[in-house]
Amino acid sequence: MTKSSRLAGFYKHSPQKRVEFLRQFADLTAQEADALSGVAGLGVTQADHMIENVVGVFGLPLGIATNFLINGQDYLIPMAIEEPSVVAGASFAARLARDGGGFRTSSDDPVMIGQVQVLDVDDPWAARFELLAAKERILALANEQDPVIVNLGGGARDLEVRVLEHSPVGPMLAVHLLYDALDAMGANTVNTAAEAIAPLIAEISGGRTLLRILSNLADRRLARAKAVVPIASLAHGEFSGEQVAQGIVEAWAFAVADPYRAATHNKGIMNGVDSVLIATGNDWRAIEAGVHSYAARSGRYTSLSTWQVDKHGGLVGTLELPMAVGIVGGATRVHPTAKAALKLLGVKTARELAEVIAAVGLAQNLAALRALSSEGIQLGHMKLHARQLAIAAGAEGEMVDRVVQTMITKKAIRLDRAEAILNKLAADA
Ligand code: NAD
Repeated sequence: MTKSSRLAGFYKHSPQKRVEFLRQFADLTAQEADALSGVAGLGVTQADHMIENVVGVFGLPLGIATNFLINGQDYLIPMAIEEPSVVAGASFAARLARDGGGFRTSSDDPVMIGQVQVLDVDDPWAARFELLAAKERILALANEQDPVIVNLGGGARDLEVRVLEHSPVGPMLAVHLLYDALDAMGANTVNTAAEAIAPLIAEISGGRTLLRILSNLADRRLARAKAVVPIASLAHGEFSGEQVAQGIVEAWAFAVADPYRAATHNKGIMNGVDSVLIATGNDWRAIEAGVHSYAARSGRYTSLSTWQVDKHGGLVGTLELPMAVGIVGGATRVHPTAKAALKLLGVKTARELAEVIAAVGLAQNLAALRALSSEGIQLGHMKLHARQLAIAAGAEGEMVDRVVQTMITKKAIRLDRAEAILNKLAADA
C-alpha cells in the first residue's frame, strides 16, 4: 500500500472502512484503531485520574483530513471538532496546496518562557543588573530540577530581565527563564523551574517574588508554514483562478487592516489548529492564549497569515504562530485516543507536530478565504449545518436527508424550520 494521503473519495466510505484504511496507513494495532473509532478510548476510570469530580467522558467527532503533503511527506490529520465543514475545508485546501508541491514548514527550538514577578525592589535597573550578572548560577539552579529533560538535551537556556516601570502597583521586574522543553509542552516543567529559582532571585534582587509561572505567549517557539497554490487550481464555477486569488488577497488585506475582521480570520485558522490540538491531547487553551496575544504583538490585533500573488503566478500563503505543543507529558500519552492520533500522524518530535499544525492552520485559512471571497461561505457551510439542525429537531434515518433537502430548497436553514418540516413529513406519513 502506498503511503499517500491523497485519498480521493475517502469521504464516501463508512467510518469503519475509513478506520481500516488508517490501520494500514499507520500500522495501528487493533486497540489503537478502537481508540480512534470510539469503540474504546478514554474510560471513566482513567478520566477520574485526569481531573477532579469526574462523572463521565465527553464525546466529540473525530475526523481525518486527507491530502496533506508537508515537506515532501504525506500526513493524515486527526481533527476533533464539533463544527461542520472544517475537516472538509482542510482536506480541500491541502489538495490545492498539493498542486503546488505541498506545504513547507519550519520552527524554532521549543523554548518556553517562565516568569518570576519581583516586587518591592528599590532600584529596578540595579536589580536587573545584579540578576543578569548572576545568570549562570540561576540557570544552574533551574537545571537541577528536571534531570530527565536536562539529560535529554533540554533545560534552562537563558535569562532575561524586564523592568515594568508603570504597573498599577508601581514598578516591578519580570524575570524570564528561557527553557528548552524538548518534546514536552513544558508548562509543568517550566513552572517547577520558575518556583525553584524564585528564592535566589529574591535574594539577588533584594525584592519580593510573587508569581512564578509559565507565559503562554510562547513567542520563542514559533512554527511556520508556507504554501504556493497554482492560480489555475483556484478556478471554480463561474470564478477564474485570477479572480479567486485576487479575492483571497483582498480578503486577507481586510484582516490585516481591521481587528474585527482579524478576529474572525484568525478564528478560522484556529478551527484547524484547535481540532488537531484536541485530537492529540494538547492544551488548546494555552495555544489559543499564545496565538491571540502574538497576533496583537504590534499593539494592534492583526492577521496571523499573509497572502500574495507572486510574479510566477502562484498564490503564496504563509502563517507564523506560537505553537507550544508536546508529544510527551500532559494528556498526550495518557489519553488513548490522543496516543493513537499521534501514532497516526507519525510525528517524531514536538517540533514536527507544531509544524504540521501550522500547515493545517494555513490550509484552514485558505479554505475559508477561498469560500468567503467567491461563492460565500454559507452555501457549503449551511448544507452541513442543516444536517445538524435536522438531527437536533429529532429527525432520524432517511428523514434527516429529507428535512435537509427541504430546508435547502426553501433557503430557510433554521431549527424552527427543521422542526416544522419534520412535523409535516411525519403527519404526511
Ligand atoms: P509533564 O510535566 O507531564 O511532562 C514533561 C516531563 O516529561 C518533563 O519534565 C520530562 O521530565 C519528561 N520527559 C520525558 N521525555 C521527554 C522529552 N523527550 N522531552 C521533554 N520532556 C520529556 O508535561 P509538561 O509539558 O511540563 O506540562 C504540560 C501540562 O501542563 C499540560 O497538561 C498543561 O495543560 C498543563 N499546564 C498548563 C499551564 C499553562 O498553559 N499556563 C499551566 C500549568 C499546567
